[in-house]
Amino acid sequence: MRRRYDIVVAGGGVTGLMTAALLARGPQSASLHITLVDAAPRPVFSPDDDMALRVSAIATGTADMFDSVGAWDFVADTRACAYDAMHVWDANDTPESKIGLHFDAAEFAVPQLGFIVENVLLQQGLLNSLDDAPVDVRFETRIRAIRKIARQFRIELADDTMLDADLVIAADGARSFVRSAVGIETSEWPYEQTALVTHLQPERPHRATAWQRFLREGPLGILPLDDGRVSVVWSTTPAIAERALRADDDELGRMLSDASDCVLGRLKVAGPRGAFPICARHAEHYVLPNLALVGDAAHAIHPLAGQGANLGLQDAAKLAAVVASAIREGRHPGDRPVLRRYERARRGANATMLHLMTGLNRLFTTDSALIGELRTVGMRVFNRSGPIRERAVKVALGVN
Ligand SMILES: Cc1cc2nc3c(=O)[nH]c(=O)nc-3n(C[C@H](O)[C@H](O)[C@H](O)COP(=O)(O)OP(=O)(O)OC[C@H]3O[C@@H](n4cnc5c(N)ncnc54)[C@H](O)[C@@H]3O)c2cc1C
Repeated sequence: MRRRYDIVVAGGGVTGLMTAALLARGPQSASLHITLVDAAPRPVFSPDDDMALRVSAIATGTADMFDSVGAWDFVADTRACAYDAMHVWDANDTPESKIGLHFDAAEFAVPQLGFIVENVLLQQGLLNSLDDAPVDVRFETRIRAIRKIARQFRIELADDTMLDADLVIAADGARSFVRSAVGIETSEWPYEQTALVTHLQPERPHRATAWQRFLREGPLGILPLDDGRVSVVWSTTPAIAERALRADDDELGRMLSDASDCVLGRLKVAGPRGAFPICARHAEHYVLPNLALVGDAAHAIHPLAGQGANLGLQDAAKLAAVVASAIREGRHPGDRPVLRRYERARRGANATMLHLMTGLNRLFTTDSALIGELRTVGMRVFNRSGPIRERAVKVALGVN
């Protein structure tokens, strides 16, 4: 009889849920006993609720991954907003300037560049697909200790129960408890920026376009929502973010209309607001024997290109594939050489994106006139170079 392996996924954000959903499909699932635990209450999505504050730009390739686990139809039929264009411009220019960058789905022969979806809806889609899967999902279950015992990890839960795992998959977010408890160090690059997030009603239609304006204090992203509103992610100084958080709706609307150069006319606040400190963080290792980090537990990046969740979901896909092939080969899925295949495939790719976002943020937040000139030249070159544009769009589409 084949051996069964106990896998514990720590964290039920999109990354942890996707990892569990992928592992629970396919022939390898018969060899796995999967438990997913999350400290928070079970997320509940209701179409009667107003649009949630946290939304993500989900690349077309990532949407295909949701489809592969049977979670996309629910998301798409509920309220995902497809966007088919992206427009990027600098604070020194007008949105109409020829120096700005513009991408169109038609140029790359794809139906859309991606979708803007509430994070809680993505979680709900994955939870629905896990309903019929052999996965023991436990919310309101905090991990309070973890220690190595021979070739397993023993996990102690806040309700005093213990779980022994042949493989722990830490998907417990940017401040991962598991990562620090097992002693994996991180490198950090603080940005001194805070992301202010809210929804607004624009005076003019958003035209299913994702807009991004680079300001000296940080980028402003304007994402189209299904009901005609837009979601704004305004990365700015902590002091401005604090002022924006405290401002009344009229004042915040004015601040964001100015910051957006009124590209969609006046913006009227039409939703809750929140602020998230921004930091780039990268784990020194993604794996130990019997343990792997995925998603924000492994890497946190600047939200400016909307890539964080997409990268975490690519980690989930690669780790699930590595575990599946180990089981096919009769190998232990927690062996370090097996898990190193995952680390080799993902750590470099994530580091490249993390440094690219850090570099782009710096390039646009500098006051230097020389850098300003280089920026303009760079954007012109980018606009005229077919291969560079195509490469950038492939990354954004998640089909690289
Ligand atoms: C303002 C902003 C905008 C963004 N926009 C985008 C975007 O447009 N596109 C995009 O791709 N990404 C975006 N991101 C990034 C994206 O939100 C994150 O990368 C993604 O949500 C990380 O998911 P995760 O599942 O790895 O971690 P999390 O969502 O943080 O989930 C971690 C889970 O672990 C649980 N947990 C923590 N500790 C414990 C414990 N001790 N025991 C048990 N459970 C525990 C938590 O309850 C939580 O549910 C944005 C980020 C920010 C801040």
